[in-house]
Amino acid sequence: MSIIPRCPDCETEMEKGFVPDNTFLGALQTVWHPGDPESAGDTFFGMKVKNRTKTVHIDESGTRKISTYRCPTCGLLRSYAE
Ligand SMILES: [Zn+2]
Repeated sequence: MSIIPRCPDCETEMEKGFVPDNTFLGALQTVWHPGDPESAGDTFFGMKVKNRTKTVHIDESGTRKISTYRCPTCGLLRSYAE
């Protein structure tokens, strides 16, 4: 985004950042995905997994990285899928 958004409550310029998505591989930038989540199934690298939060199928061609702006005055977060 080229224009810095202002907090709708405080009128203060918001600070750009992102919310890290932590995985066992490290941290990733959260992405926006179109449509409804579709289950990726019960396997993980070919191994059957149990009692684990189900992962969803990701089509990377439609995803957009999410930038999150934070108001330094009140802490409000606003996210944009750019
Ligand atoms: Zn604010």
